[in-house]
Amino acid sequence: MTINNIDNLKNIESYYPKEECGIVGVYNIPEAANFAYLGIYALQHRGQESAGIVSSDGERLFRFAGMGKVSDVFKEQKLKQLIGSSAIAHNRYSTTGASFLRNAQPIRVESRFGTIAMAHNGNITNAWTIRHELEAKGSIFQTTADTEVICHLMANSNEAELSSALTYALGIIKGAYSLVVLIPDAIYAVRDPNGFRPLVMGKKDDGYVFASETCALDIMDAEYIRDVEPGELIHISEQGIQSSFPFKKCSENLCIFEFVYFGRPDSKIFNKEVYDIRFRLGQQLAKESPVEADVVIPVPDSSTIAALGYSDQSKIPFHMGLIRSHYIGRTFIEPDQKIRDFGAKLKYNAIEHVVKNKKVVVVDDSIMRGTTQKKIIKMLKNSGAKEIHVRISSAPTVYPCYYGIDIPTSEELIAHNHSIEQIRTYLGVDSISYLSIEGMKNSCYDNDNHCTACFDGNYPILPESSNGFYSNQKLLFEEYYVEEKL
Ligand code: SF4
Repeated sequence: MTINNIDNLKNIESYYPKEECGIVGVYNIPEAANFAYLGIYALQHRGQESAGIVSSDGERLFRFAGMGKVSDVFKEQKLKQLIGSSAIAHNRYSTTGASFLRNAQPIRVESRFGTIAMAHNGNITNAWTIRHELEAKGSIFQTTADTEVICHLMANSNEAELSSALTYALGIIKGAYSLVVLIPDAIYAVRDPNGFRPLVMGKKDDGYVFASETCALDIMDAEYIRDVEPGELIHISEQGIQSSFPFKKCSENLCIFEFVYFGRPDSKIFNKEVYDIRFRLGQQLAKESPVEADVVIPVPDSSTIAALGYSDQSKIPFHMGLIRSHYIGRTFIEPDQKIRDFGAKLKYNAIEHVVKNKKVVVVDDSIMRGTTQKKIIKMLKNSGAKEIHVRISSAPTVYPCYYGIDIPTSEELIAHNHSIEQIRTYLGVDSISYLSIEGMKNSCYDNDNHCTACFDGNYPILPESSNGFYSNQKLLFEEYYVEEKL
């Protein structure tokens, strides 16, 4: 299949890769792999389809990665083999199936600079173009992940030093990248100039830790020092810590969705408490869209804090009217429509006692396809809810994300092609309201430094492709994926 054939691209859209990840870096801490393991365990919510760790004993890099959750991939024996006092780790959503083990990160490559390992959270928006240019010049890629282009650019650079080659490669790529890079005697941590994805830095004893969210530092007993700044490259070796800002400065575009949905409420992201922001989103929602009701219930777990905020502002009592089973993955990032539908039925149950004969406000963080919400509403009605008012603690999600979050394509997003009244009718509820984009920004103490592209289409960086058809860039390397499935 040719990737230039737009019709084919549309036909395979449901197969697109999932690209939301958690990363960890550990430097100069004995048994680093164990800490890296704990770190990605705490970040499990950011990726559940593969996990990997690369460790260093100062001379060599040791790698193990597998498909599945962190605790499934790593057994005690495996961790013992990952020796050394430095490590990087990664968990990700990708496609399921053993054939994609080779895409599991961290990737490890041999190069003229020695062995390099890399773990990436984000999405490189010009990876398609770079990869095809490099392949035309003879490069042979080992994976179908966009991260690998960084290694190839480094190898193809004229730089003599690894640090300069890394800076050179990062200067060429565009898009979202929070990255940890491990070589035998040093670690690098870097965040793209727009700062799309989070990356924090912590200290533990004589060592340092990097992670997507501070909940990973907490589990390691590491102290949060600060965020890696947008556009900052940190290098730690025996010689000490070096921080530089080698890239062209640009506007900050911190992903607002991290606050709405992804970040753990006990984490600090972009130097702000996720709990605080999520609570404020709920309060703001109650200010913008009040309703007379008897009870506020969340769609657990990601909406619980926003529902508390809504209840706090509206003075309507908060209760858990829905209980979520924790033994099934999060609905909107599971592999295909069939499993999603099945999952929604297994995942939630209504508590009749809480909702029967009540006017119920249901707070949810976002609506993608709407299929989960429809099933939840049906459950609540079956449990005797008198009125149902849906309140969403973000604006309508209308566009896909090109910066590392698995938001469905526009065609699949219910708010892309339907009015709010049509969505209300589809869900069969008495009323529905979304939070305004302004309200979201205000809740985040915004000084205009957040990305809101999936809500308003204002993409800070447009993805590139050789055919100019950038709207399908999230299908990056999809032709390889389809071939492997066959
Ligand atoms: Fe976050 Fe949406 Fe921007 Fe993607 S498009 S980075 S999900 S705000």
